[in-house]
Amino acid sequence: MTKQSKQDNLKIIPLGGLGEVGRNMTLLEYQGRILIIDMGFRMPEEDMPGVDYIIPSIDYLKNKQKNILGIVFTHGHYDHIGAVPYLIRKIWREKLPIFASPLTRGIILKRQEDFSHETKLKINEVYDGSRIELGPFKIEFFRQNHNIPDNLGLFIQTPIGNILHTSDFKFDQNPVNDLPTNFEKLRGIGKRKILLMLSDSTDAEEEGHSLSEKEILKNLEEIFKSVHGRIIAATFASLINRIQQIITLSEKYGRKVCLEGYSMKTNVEICKNLGYIKAKRETFISAKQIENYPPSQITILGTGAQGEAEAVLMRIASKEHPFIKIKKGDTVIFSSSVIPGNERTVQIMKDEIMRQGAKVFHYKMMDIHAGGHAKSEELKEMIKIMTPKFFMPIHGQYSMLVAHSQLAKEMGMEEKNVIVAENGNVINLNQKRIFIEKEKVPSNYVMIDGLGIGDVGQVVLRDRQMLAEDGMFVIVVIVERQTGKVRGSPDIISRGFVYLRESKELLRDTRKRVIGIVERATGTGGAVNWSYIKDEIRNKIGQFLFSRTQRRPMILPVVIEV
Ligand SMILES: [Zn+2]
Repeated sequence: MTKQSKQDNLKIIPLGGLGEVGRNMTLLEYQGRILIIDMGFRMPEEDMPGVDYIIPSIDYLKNKQKNILGIVFTHGHYDHIGAVPYLIRKIWREKLPIFASPLTRGIILKRQEDFSHETKLKINEVYDGSRIELGPFKIEFFRQNHNIPDNLGLFIQTPIGNILHTSDFKFDQNPVNDLPTNFEKLRGIGKRKILLMLSDSTDAEEEGHSLSEKEILKNLEEIFKSVHGRIIAATFASLINRIQQIITLSEKYGRKVCLEGYSMKTNVEICKNLGYIKAKRETFISAKQIENYPPSQITILGTGAQGEAEAVLMRIASKEHPFIKIKKGDTVIFSSSVIPGNERTVQIMKDEIMRQGAKVFHYKMMDIHAGGHAKSEELKEMIKIMTPKFFMPIHGQYSMLVAHSQLAKEMGMEEKNVIVAENGNVINLNQKRIFIEKEKVPSNYVMIDGLGIGDVGQVVLRDRQMLAEDGMFVIVVIVERQTGKVRGSPDIISRGFVYLRESKELLRDTRKRVIGIVERATGTGGAVNWSYIKDEIRNKIGQFLFSRTQRRPMILPVVIEV
């Protein structure tokens, strides 16, 4: 293939969302001009202490601001919009075109307000049927059912051919407070010759069909019917359909709803204003008012079903919530499925809640979980409707992408036309073939810690893991400059390593060694390489402590000259 023709390939560059759940962000590039689809974050893994979120790396876009045609958002879930406040500044230019449905727009703008020093965004509203043109890309938005309203799939005409991006989706003939899937419209799109389909893989490993939102409502209602104490329901703040269902059922069964958690309150506010959540004004009460009602008339709806440290449910479970304590007779509903990597934390939290006397319903016991994603039968149906020439699974762990690619092959697609890609791959597409370039673009984790962006690197993370696992060990040595002798006995401070009072012998031996290391190196005074001495202490004492305790605390030598 000549250079010229490779230049004319369409490039698909996933910066996140492949091989993981969350952090969705994909670039389409044609002749150097770039369209961005979604900018999401993901939750940290359990071995990343202190990290709040992980966002995509956009190093690839460095010095390419001028080439960015615009950003389109599919829906308002944080794994599709969450990275905006952290990333937008780096690619921002006046009048950068941004498009989102009204609800998605509302959620993005509200979050942006919370970062008051951040860029004020202008976002254009798009709806089912809207058409826009950005450089060589003509984009048509079409409604897709999911577990948040106002979710849009993308039909994109490019000079190479038509691309279909499903967004997250499921087929739902009986949604709650939303329109059913418009199969006729989807078939119409499918007739327009799809060259490549990018399709949601989150539930590709699940057999059968996803549950209709009506079905989930029925299951939730079983709980509401049988429970007489308070109901504490935890879900994602962006799982708008679930929030609506819990409000609807609370009203039906004579319960007041106390919303807890900042993101829950703001999302409900945005949705109420836009008409996406229907509720009576008098349904809502504040946490302080809970005691004014009998338990049978109370629903508490909060965030935290993933065991997030700062979320409402965790604060209730760990008895840190100022007003809400678990009482005997309470029923706690975890109404979203657990994201891979959070299982252990959720389990511990669940145990704690039960220990405090509450009954727990979780998604494995009844179908009350997210269920927002198409399962294998629906995914096959989507492939059948769109009959794309090429197929690339997106959104999901690697095993989900593979399962989805198998489904495509079951549907008769040729092996060479189905591509399982990873973050950072540059996928080339032309009318004849699809292939991955050898060179990858950066797609590493960028970690967000409080408001800091990307200043938590691998080194900081390793330190935190070390501190969390084996604690720390500070050695303070005072050295007389003139003689090179250690004055007195080195001070030792330790946290999370061993109980010092019961380790007298270990401490005595450690001190002796520290004195030995320092005095060997200082000789008889004069010019001394202090950083060498610190390294020696760190290494030798590290080995010594490990040989005695099988632990590797972080060692911080402090050498003071007098
Ligand atoms: Zn979603």
